[in-house]
Amino acid sequence: MNNHLSEDQTTEWALGTSDEHVFRHLETCAACAREADELRSALAGFRDAVHTTAGRDASFWKSQQLAVSERLSTQDWYPLHWAWVVAMVVVLITAILLIRTPNVPKNRVSEDADNALLQAVQRDLSREVPEALAPAVLIAEERNEILSKKGD
Ligand SMILES: [Zn+2]
Repeated sequence: MNNHLSEDQTTEWALGTSDEHVFRHLETCAACAREADELRSALAGFRDAVHTTAGRDASFWKSQQLAVSERLSTQDWYPLHWAWVVAMVVVLITAILLIRTPNVPKNRVSEDADNALLQAVQRDLSREVPEALAPAVLIAEERNEILSKKGD
């Protein structure tokens, strides 16, 4: 019985989960008994405080609920309604932006392709002979050259 109770043993006693050894020590050791009583009263005080807070919170929320329902029944509904409309519009705009954003690079690419095609068309139009007939033109020119040389 020389060893005093550990903190864990005192806590177990306060919680009512200690064994015979602890009870026997508390009966004979005044120091441990005082410590255990202090802990038990502290725990009891904490428990009471929790119960008080819980009870107060319940009534607090009930009064809050009453206040809110009272306010909703008397208040003009339009501000709330418009707040919802604004929120929905914001959500819609965000959704549209989110949907359109992935298409932006694609549009740019097709725009570039369009520009390239347009430039190619303009190049073809500025050319005297279509690109497909260019080899034939070369052949014709070479033929004319040969013929003119022969004519010499
Ligand atoms: Zn002791």
